[in-house]
Amino acid sequence: MATSTSSSGDLPTTATDIAAAVRAGTVSAADVLERHLAAIDAREGEIHAFNLVLADEARTAAARVDADVAAGRDPGPLAGVPVALKDNLCTHGIPTTCSSKILEGWRPPYDATVVQRLAAAGAVAVGKTNLDEFAMGSSTENSAFGPTRNPVDTSRVPGGSSGGSAAAVAAGFAPISLGSDTGGSIRQPAALCGVVGVKPTYGVVSRYGLVAFASSLDQIGPFSTTVADSALVLETIGGHDPMDSTSIPEPVPGLTAVLDQGVEGLRVGRITDLPEGASPDVAARLEAAFDTLAAAGATIVDVEVPAFTYGLTAYYLIAPAEASSNLARYDGVRYGLRVPAPDTNTMYMATRHEGFGDEVKRRIMLGTYALSAGYYDAYYGKALKVRRLISDDFARAYQSVDVLLTPASPTVAFRIGDKVDDPFTMYLCDTYTIPSNLSGHPGMSVPFGTGADGLPVGVQVLASTLGEPTMFRVAAELERAMATADAIAATRGEVSS
Ligand code: GLN
Repeated sequence: MATSTSSSGDLPTTATDIAAAVRAGTVSAADVLERHLAAIDAREGEIHAFNLVLADEARTAAARVDADVAAGRDPGPLAGVPVALKDNLCTHGIPTTCSSKILEGWRPPYDATVVQRLAAAGAVAVGKTNLDEFAMGSSTENSAFGPTRNPVDTSRVPGGSSGGSAAAVAAGFAPISLGSDTGGSIRQPAALCGVVGVKPTYGVVSRYGLVAFASSLDQIGPFSTTVADSALVLETIGGHDPMDSTSIPEPVPGLTAVLDQGVEGLRVGRITDLPEGASPDVAARLEAAFDTLAAAGATIVDVEVPAFTYGLTAYYLIAPAEASSNLARYDGVRYGLRVPAPDTNTMYMATRHEGFGDEVKRRIMLGTYALSAGYYDAYYGKALKVRRLISDDFARAYQSVDVLLTPASPTVAFRIGDKVDDPFTMYLCDTYTIPSNLSGHPGMSVPFGTGADGLPVGVQVLASTLGEPTMFRVAAELERAMATADAIAATRGEVSS
């Protein structure tokens, strides 16, 4: 396999290559880190991917990795790899804000399981990334600390809610990052920033230490520039954790080993009743992806997933319902902000009024309404029935196909400010990602060329429960096809598609 190197040709750039070089002692974790800190220095002012850069802590961690190598100890599969962490992942003693004013001053007393596992594997945390407040949004404009800009075109959003994590990888601030995906918050920003983003099967990655938005939908997953890097990260952070009662009691399926297997004989589903809304440029890239996989030996099969189209509606009852309950804990007593008031009730109200932004308040009101007596059956109960129908429809589809292909996002990155005053239009960003959160199935976005204005397009690969190995094989095939197309275009002196 070709080794990735920076333009100066001296240091590797992917997580896989960095870890191999650091473990072999040919490159130091300190040098790798300094290069990434320099990239952050150069462009972070413009991008705002981070709420907090952990330069000192990262230098200490990198020195420890180098000391291990010097002493003949193996620092682990992510030795010396810089990683950016979404700021809704708990980090011991380090502010964790969820990009909300309400958590001001709060420092978690423990590390999330994923944070522990990354550190144990030798990764070096470089910072906490910006997000839509409490992960509610699709553009990172709902952050209390200001928006993140898309590194590909800084007049555009990076997507959301994990926009900071996607932008950090796209800008070269870190080769890998972690996000969370409740309705598309990893896959949509990955698509808009032109990087790989994975939402694993619900239960593959422990949610212990992930600040809860909608617990039955939330899943943590990686961003990276290559499919292989996401496979490596998922192998590292996945697997059973007794601290999360919804964690699947099995090891994560092997992923890095299957990437070269190709797609010969796989059945790739095209959803014939997919909801409309994809722009023509995105639809064209999806067609090109089907053609690529067919040429590589896969069979394209038409399938129906009738309830797919109701995903968005069901989600906007279920997710707010769970959020209204999860966010009840921010009361001015237990975490962060407290606005002083003469009595307790007024203090609760003043704190929540000051501490939460508009979108979070909208969700709390929606969720409280959907759960209230007299409306529970009509709204929340009905949404749960639709959720079941979606799972059943997917299960039926996966009897005749191995994976499904859809757009990850209906459009390429839109301009900052374009949708922020129109919540419903913003919600439509997740039309294609939400159904697999409701069913718990895995999904990932893989960059597949460009659309309008030369901006990145992501193709979404969906698979059945614990179907990650097949999903990654298909993503790797799409990535190989793009690399070949880019190489051909380069030899002709053209700009790639
Ligand atoms: N954009 C969706 C929302 O606002 C999904 C967010 C997410 O996955 N965290 O709820």
